[in-house]
Amino acid sequence: MKALAWMGKNKVEMIETLKPRILEPRDVILKITGSTVCGSDLHLLHGTVVELEKGDILGHEFCGIVDEVGDQVTNLKKGQRVVASFQIACGDCYYCKQKLSSQCEKTNSNTLENAMYGGRTAGMFGYSHFTGGFAGGQAEYTRVPYGDVNLLPLPDDVPDETGLYLSDVLATSWHAVVDTGVKKGDVVAIWGAGPIGQMAAEFSLLNGASRVIMIDSNWRLDYVKERYPHIDTLDYSALGKGNSVTSKLKEMCNNRGPDVSIECAAGEYAKGWAHYFEMMLGLETDTSEIVNEMIASTRNFGRCGITGVYVGFTNHFNIGSLMERGIRLIGNGQAPVHLYWESLLKMIQEDKIHPLKMVSHRVKLEELDKVYYKFEKKEDGMQKVFVET
Ligand code: NAD
Ligand code: ZN
Ligand code: ZN
Repeated sequence: MKALAWMGKNKVEMIETLKPRILEPRDVILKITGSTVCGSDLHLLHGTVVELEKGDILGHEFCGIVDEVGDQVTNLKKGQRVVASFQIACGDCYYCKQKLSSQCEKTNSNTLENAMYGGRTAGMFGYSHFTGGFAGGQAEYTRVPYGDVNLLPLPDDVPDETGLYLSDVLATSWHAVVDTGVKKGDVVAIWGAGPIGQMAAEFSLLNGASRVIMIDSNWRLDYVKERYPHIDTLDYSALGKGNSVTSKLKEMCNNRGPDVSIECAAGEYAKGWAHYFEMMLGLETDTSEIVNEMIASTRNFGRCGITGVYVGFTNHFNIGSLMERGIRLIGNGQAPVHLYWESLLKMIQEDKIHPLKMVSHRVKLEELDKVYYKFEKKEDGMQKVFVET
């Protein structure tokens, strides 16, 4: 079968490899029909997540058709259309029973040491050996462990093109909004206008926010202005001398600042992984500018959520502002997909959310290696892609 493999730093390649087979009784073999490339895949491409091996198959957002089921899978049949969760949960452990699937105790690699340095979460598809070394779905087929709980059937009225995003983006952005507590009348500021930020903006409005302001630079904000004209924007790269994101936000929000701020950027993400290892060596790291910017910008007693991925310890953190002004800082965590995907599916069916707005290109699996480099360079205004398989 064809698959997209990591072949070293900054190198991915379409390869021919063996079709996966059932290894465990709860496995499902999925014939992939659609997948996508995520901002996180670029960190894998760059090799900033170092636990990759040549030939590892990438891709954690995908949907497909059930091709084969293990002996213990009784809720799915060959031929059924399904979407996969990006995280691999067992369905039975302490966290899975509460549908907090991103923290599954069976599939994560949480040693005490890992927990102290930030922790690791449930196994993930195509996301290096850092998260279990499971093969991903940018391929013709993949093996889905615990397929009985990690696949959600897609009804006929939900095409692959929209259902696919239940695997990650929709659950992540909805969780960011719910978990940070966006409520009616709130003014919400969102750092990072990628797919996660765009959907978090839409969900904030759905939850009753009176206004959303997205902070990013022009290549992304031009797209937002075109597709989401009802959302306000703030270009951090075009601030004049003496202006900062914080001063600008205060000015835009009654000189107080937004009620809720959400970090969907992780500008320090790549630095974060490297810092993880620096930190393991006992070296110190700096906190992200975005997190401090968010704390400084938010109104007193407001709420800040962190959805962008960070790893490990940071210093120079504005804890004084948290204490004095009562800022509530919430780590949203890896979003527990299983907690939300059924209600999100209903929202798609009821036409309440429109994930296609964040999709700029439709491509074929065969050209995915070239698409990675295009996606990296943002060529042709490439944002989120639908990979037809
Ligand atoms: P993306 O790379 O497409 O978008 C991130 C955006 O942040 C970019 O447009 C970039 O220009 C912007 N940005 C960078 N520095 C900034 C700054 N200083 N101020 C404002 N904007 C800035 O990523 P995405 O796919 O939308 O994902 C967003 C984040 O969410 C990533 O860190 C991703 O890894 C993370 N994520 C988290 C979860 C979870 O479960 N918590 C799940 C999926 C993705
Ligand atoms: Zn993703
Ligand atoms: Zn579990």
